[in-house]
Amino acid sequence: MTYLDHNATSPPRPESAAAVTHALSVGGNPSSVHAAGRAARAIVENAREQVAQLCGARAQDVIFTGGGTEANATALWGAVHGALDAEARLTRLFVSAIEHASVHANAVAIAERVAGIRCERIPVTSEGTLDTEALRVMLREGKGRTLVAVMAANNETGVIQPLEDVAKLVNDANALLLVDAVQAAGKIKIDATAFGADYLALSAHKIGGPQGTGALVVRDGAPFATFMLGGGQERGRRGGTENVAGIAGFGAAAEIAAELRDVARLTSLRDRFEGELARRLPRTIVFGARAPRICNTSNFAIPGIAAETAVMALDLDGVMVSSGAACSSGKVRLSHVLTAMGVADEVARGGLRVSFGWNSTDQDVEAVLAALDRLVSRAVAA
Ligand code: PLP
Repeated sequence: MTYLDHNATSPPRPESAAAVTHALSVGGNPSSVHAAGRAARAIVENAREQVAQLCGARAQDVIFTGGGTEANATALWGAVHGALDAEARLTRLFVSAIEHASVHANAVAIAERVAGIRCERIPVTSEGTLDTEALRVMLREGKGRTLVAVMAANNETGVIQPLEDVAKLVNDANALLLVDAVQAAGKIKIDATAFGADYLALSAHKIGGPQGTGALVVRDGAPFATFMLGGGQERGRRGGTENVAGIAGFGAAAEIAAELRDVARLTSLRDRFEGELARRLPRTIVFGARAPRICNTSNFAIPGIAAETAVMALDLDGVMVSSGAACSSGKVRLSHVLTAMGVADEVARGGLRVSFGWNSTDQDVEAVLAALDRLVSRAVAA
């Protein structure tokens, strides 16, 4: 079987799995003062350092969460409720049109449920990069403080966002910035300070760590109110006994991700894949091809091939990839990312994503190319 869906989940690296197993053998609650508790606490704090190193943050600003979704949701709700006094009150959430649902859905829910806050989309170009000029205009108009949410790299196209420019605009407008770095980690250098991020989200299972573990980095002094109240864990910012084993596995994966050790190899796999695809199927369209992209992601459409059926056919042929389009109740829901890039519906319907990762090989490239060849030959014959 060929697994090329690392942007969905990158299977645990052996180092991460070993750290999880070790942590499970330790037992103990990190809040306990006895030896077992202290051992568990040491595991958590070691991982906090490793995650902080990955994203250029201070360890004490790292809050472990139950994944990237929780990190994004916590940032948005925490910022809104942490900035309630008249001067600093948030009135506007500007969210890039290509954000992950965990940013979109929470921003929309906040605008619906919290009086005096509205949510607007920041457009992107046809290459899938944020339209910084549009953001500049949006930040100039209207009253009140704004929170801007722009991801570091998009999960569907892999397009890297112009965070330096965004950070400058945000800073000039005295706004706040949420950076979803979930897909960028391990592929480009993540630096919460250089990004100008007030809030930065990470997820372990996108970097070869366990699922259900992530982190939110909150800059010292950024507005933040805890809604997960409980036993005061995570310095009072997220109650609940820590997921010690998950955190240990996250830490081990973060240490490797910080080295960017797979970047050159993944770039060459992805480039070879796209080069061969263009040679064999010259009508293929690669989305965001002219923009800077993370090294592992290829999002493309082959005219005449519907993504939904292609994913199933490739799976039957032993190759696992994903599609941006999803079919529910007989209706095709198109990728909001491709739609925001102005891709025509009939083209977006064919959007397929191949995402390489730490265990991908040359043989995987051969396997997916051969499976696509067979798929297209069958479609032509039909
Ligand atoms: N943000 C981005 C860009 C993602 O790609 C994902 C997962 O697909 C998430 C957030 C959510 O992360 P998690 O699956 O850990 O909740």
